[in-house]
Amino acid sequence: MKKLATLCILLALTTVTATAALAGDTLADAKKKGVLVVGCKDSLPPFGYIDEKSRQIVGYDIDFVNAIAKKMGVKVELKPVTSASRTPQLQEGHIDIIAATMTKNAERAKVIDFSHTYFFTGQKFITKKGAIKSLKDLEGKKIGTAKGSTSEQNVKKAVPSASVLSFDDYPQAFLALQQGKVAAVTTDEAILAGILAKAPNKAQFEIPTIQISDEPYGLGMRKGDTNFVNFVNKTIIEMEKNGEAKAIFDKWFGPKTQYHLNRTFKISADK
Ligand code: GLU
Repeated sequence: MKKLATLCILLALTTVTATAALAGDTLADAKKKGVLVVGCKDSLPPFGYIDEKSRQIVGYDIDFVNAIAKKMGVKVELKPVTSASRTPQLQEGHIDIIAATMTKNAERAKVIDFSHTYFFTGQKFITKKGAIKSLKDLEGKKIGTAKGSTSEQNVKKAVPSASVLSFDDYPQAFLALQQGKVAAVTTDEAILAGILAKAPNKAQFEIPTIQISDEPYGLGMRKGDTNFVNFVNKTIIEMEKNGEAKAIFDKWFGPKTQYHLNRTFKISADK
């Protein structure tokens, strides 16, 4: 009996050590290397996209991780990821943190850790003007979205009769809408608004007021990377208190945008 107990304790200890070893300590490692490797989007204004003038990836997500890296005293290296590749890239150690329009949810939290919410939006559709008034109008239609996203899962539940076409990213899905290959594209409203703002023929499209989910964004870190998760959360709260988070928000969305209220509310609810 005693032997069994010892064995159990040993086994438990091994599991804990193995998990910790797998997660490592990104805070210490990145400080040692002098660089934090960030998985980000590179075609989703205003979260992560290539600035035409500087040819650099810029955006709301990038400003958030830049602030965190500055606090750590390290440089940022940006690596573009897709919705489907971001979690495996993190788990395999190719990136240290995900800052890529990523929704935190219970399913994902089983395999990675999330920071406090740093942005809050909800899933909507973009369609040809006047084409879609309610979810009913989407029944049996083709709807474009991105592989590996919550958007893909949510729309399958919200409109089971639709056929969902999953692309690598949202600009490709929007191209399919422009070419008449899908009746709608669905993802987070803030992403859709960014795509629409850059579209040359934007007058032909609209985002109807149909919302099918809430999408709180978190920065993704390796499961069990506790020191790093705590540091990131502490920094986000500090940024909220000292006005830096609001300044980043206002820079990309404007002081009058509705998202601000939601984001602030979510962060304080998380603490
Ligand atoms: N926020 C949603 C998600 O994490 C949709 C946007 C995206 O695919 O990055 O899946």
